Amino acid sequence: MTEQFDLIVIGAGPAGYVAAIHAAQLGLKTACIDKTVGKDGKAAPGGTCLNVGCIPSKALLDSSKHYDHLQHTYADHGISADNVSMDVATMIARKDKIVKQLTGGISQLFKANKVTFFHGTGTLGADHCVSVTQISGDNIELQGKNILLASGSVAIEIPGIAFDDTHIIDNIGALNLDGVPERLGVIGAGVIGLELGSVWSRLGSKVTILEALPDFLGVADKDVAKLAAREFRKQKLDIQLNTLVKSASVAENQVVVTIEGKNGEQELTFDRLLVAVGRRTYTEGLLADDSEVKLTERGQIAVDENCLTSSAGVYAIGDAVRGPMLAHKASEEGVAVVNRLAGKHGHLDFNTIPWVIYTEPEIAWVGKTEQQLKEEGVEYKGGSFPFAANGRALAGGAPAGMVKLLADASTDELLGAHIVGANASELIAECVVTMEFHGSSEDLALIVHAHPTLSEAVHEAALHIHKHAIHRPN
Ligand code: FAD
Ligand code: NAD
Repeated sequence: MTEQFDLIVIGAGPAGYVAAIHAAQLGLKTACIDKTVGKDGKAAPGGTCLNVGCIPSKALLDSSKHYDHLQHTYADHGISADNVSMDVATMIARKDKIVKQLTGGISQLFKANKVTFFHGTGTLGADHCVSVTQISGDNIELQGKNILLASGSVAIEIPGIAFDDTHIIDNIGALNLDGVPERLGVIGAGVIGLELGSVWSRLGSKVTILEALPDFLGVADKDVAKLAAREFRKQKLDIQLNTLVKSASVAENQVVVTIEGKNGEQELTFDRLLVAVGRRTYTEGLLADDSEVKLTERGQIAVDENCLTSSAGVYAIGDAVRGPMLAHKASEEGVAVVNRLAGKHGHLDFNTIPWVIYTEPEIAWVGKTEQQLKEEGVEYKGGSFPFAANGRALAGGAPAGMVKLLADASTDELLGAHIVGANASELIAECVVTMEFHGSSEDLALIVHAHPTLSEAVHEAALHIHKHAIHRPN
């Protein structure tokens, strides 16, 4: 017999699992299907983010940061240690334990919220019918009043440079190396290249990042990108811009990469090569021929502004559709769709979705960059504040970076915030709130910020817009 649900969610990443829980909380009879098998052989809901993305990368960034600081910064505090060593296997095991705790937590949340979970592959056919090929081997049929597709994304493979999961690897491989490669090549100076490049560089790899574009981190504000590039160079991350990778081949436990860069054609040899040139929507096994759901030319699930696909009652969210590939975007998109299904208001403003890169220093931004405002012909005013003039940053040994704010020249509404520095990931939240409420830089300037905190740099940048900064020239 076909089991009936109000909502069937395919995929339990941050898009799908959050939507499923929220739907059940709003009283919808909800099923969620996910096929991920964890390292322990059990179901591991949580998608890319929890299993092979956000969380494991942050666990390794944290471990590697401690190792790096012990060697390079603690001496300033008068702290030294002999025979410092680290063990990659222990770091990976710690990371795996955190992943297991969190994916297990989602299974518990599903139970607590009465979401019916199916471990297997869900395939959508006509008339909102979903066949589930369960990992257990049983096939079952479900039918939903509404369907939510949240199948996520996988790493893009460069034609001719196939992943072999040993020498030529994606994010999954780079989060599970069994030792520190002496030479790590990375294709792509994007978010993954910088975060995972930092992990292995801190642990001792000589990391070379090959980026096709001439500008470093072109999506970020140019001042932020420039400052970050300077810090990464100090950390000996070798970032080669304007570099085209023409081929890569594996022989004798090494990867030989042919590049076309500023010195013409050249061969580089690495022990491992991480390919991090973006991600593509994953739809394998998701749609039966009669599903009526259409894909875009880029292979994403085509949706309108309310995440409705070309098939009535079928919605799609997260990395499977247009927009930034970020966990919080995926989750909030799911919440918005579910709210609308339940007759409530669903809201998501792409302009106020924060971006964070968890390197050292961290990079975070929200809203428009200065170059975007110029391109759009918007009149703006700017203010900034360096962490080198912030007492808490100096006390914490993190003087690198700055806060830069951009506000409308006539209304003073905050249009963009760009932070490079320690805890930028947390500091950006205040700017997101201000922008969501259409607040002004004067609002930020009038708010009391605790002393001594890094957030005083946000306050001073806002004051600087009005030429009233206290701890820097105006
Ligand atoms: P996914 O997380 O990819 O989940 C989709 C799920 O659906 C998967 O479990 C998949 O197996 C399952 N699935 C697919 N098809 C089917 C099917 N037919 N049947 C059953 N199950 C199916 N974002 C951030 O915001 N912050 C970060 O710090 C961050 N770090 C990242 C680090 C790395 C290394 C990577 C790779 C990504 C990172 N991201 C980060 C991006 C983030 O992981 C994604 O944006 C997010 O996971 C997207 O969520 P999703 O639910 O749309 O897709
Ligand atoms: P990305 O889009 O961030 O960066 C890819 C980089 O590769 C770009 O700079 C691009 O110009 C470059 N590139 C593309 N083709 C190339 C080629 N053939 N040769 C050399 N360079 C090439 O992609 P990513 O780093 O793979 O990450 C994928 C997505 O995952 C991100 O866009 C982001 O949405 C998400 N992510 C987010 C976080 C975070 O929020 N902290 C962390 C990791 C991943």
